[in-house]
Amino acid sequence: MPQPKSTAELRALDAAHHLHPFSDMKALNAEGSRIITRADGVWLTDSEGNRILDGMSGLWCVNVGYGREEIVDAVAAQMRELPYYNTFFKTTHQPAIELSAKLAELTPPQFNRVFFTGSGSESNDTVIRLVRRYFDIREKPQKKVIISRRNAYHGSTVGAASLGGMAPMHEQGGLPIPDIVHIAQPYWWGEARQGETMEEFGIRTARALESVIDAMGEDRIAAFIAEPIQGAGGVIIPPITYWPEIARICRERDILFVSDEVICGFGRTGQWFGCETYHTHPDILVMAKGITSGYMPLGGVMVADKVAEVLMEGGDFNHGYTYSGHPAACAAALANLAIMQREKLVERVAENVGPYLKARWSALAEHPLVGEAPMVGLVGALELTPDKVGRTSFPDVGKVGTLARDFSFANNLVMRAVRDRLIIAPPLVISHGECDELIARARRTLDQTYAELKRRGWV
Ligand code: PMP
Repeated sequence: MPQPKSTAELRALDAAHHLHPFSDMKALNAEGSRIITRADGVWLTDSEGNRILDGMSGLWCVNVGYGREEIVDAVAAQMRELPYYNTFFKTTHQPAIELSAKLAELTPPQFNRVFFTGSGSESNDTVIRLVRRYFDIREKPQKKVIISRRNAYHGSTVGAASLGGMAPMHEQGGLPIPDIVHIAQPYWWGEARQGETMEEFGIRTARALESVIDAMGEDRIAAFIAEPIQGAGGVIIPPITYWPEIARICRERDILFVSDEVICGFGRTGQWFGCETYHTHPDILVMAKGITSGYMPLGGVMVADKVAEVLMEGGDFNHGYTYSGHPAACAAALANLAIMQREKLVERVAENVGPYLKARWSALAEHPLVGEAPMVGLVGALELTPDKVGRTSFPDVGKVGTLARDFSFANNLVMRAVRDRLIIAPPLVISHGECDELIARARRTLDQTYAELKRRGWV
């Protein structure tokens, strides 16, 4: 552990030497970062002694909450025994083997094999290579195109950012790479026509997939990738008609369906995986984050038997990462999953704390600033709007969201803002009392934001 330093010293060093992800460093350095020093359960502590309710589970990952000695001990024991070895050259080790078997047990029945990575981004890069390799082996090398959705987030590497549909990311660095196309997302509030019901919108948006396949030719399309609920895009919860229609299209076409479960996996939606909540049948399942609850970096790509069998006929798959199946990360995952199973955390989300929080979260839709307040499992959003009925946006999209996010932070509640949408995804261990506290702080944040907007004449 580094020697403790003062907040001012740390801020100065941070400003001098540290480039933060997704940050305007000039603005951040002028303001100074909040320095997080420790955490326990759902609570963070900063260097000034504030206790902050972490409504985002870190970055959607700390599903079992902070301070789990059991995971720490498992990692320490593994590091003493075998801190590292690779799985490239006819070698393997017990943590990677045991975790592979555990994942085969927890994921839907079509999945029995996993390819390990170090993160969600690496997992999605793996997906691009893997689906193209699959069709090469099947002697359909022209099937290369992967369909994704606008405003999707699949990671930050060149491949994963190309799969993602974030225009501000594509603008920086000449993305996407070839043979990735993006269709509309099922974001009813923001993108439905006036008078179009959620159900109609869900069907229409799903059929965009069919239209692209028809327009480009099925012989060109390798896969469709999507998150069950689009997380970083703003917790876009699809209308109930969306997934059944997508599932129909995928069933009728010879394309692979990839479910990116980096956020939705490991209990977030009240089932182990989001594809179970929405009854889709993926051929590939992408995971990271909750697999270790963020205690160690780890990702994985589950491959359905029908795909794995083809891949195994193809000789070498020339792909892998130094840290694929890192033993200490696998040990963290095994300890994390043991906690989830023993404490029945997935069931708790479905039957207990999920419904408890949802009832209170939904009531926030009555606030004059809130257009909709959807929640599934323990992931939810608050759409901020100047006009609930007309579903209009504030001018200069993002300004109000940031204002509200800053109020929330000042109220010691971590909520994230995406455009003018506030989002939460608290640890699955959050208690009822802590849910009440979260709601009280969210409500105060909305009141403060509304008062400020009135003062500015924006509402
Ligand atoms: N896919 C999804 C759905 C994600 O939400 C994320 C990260 N937020 C990623 C992939 C990328 O994961 P990582 O940051 O571990 O590379």
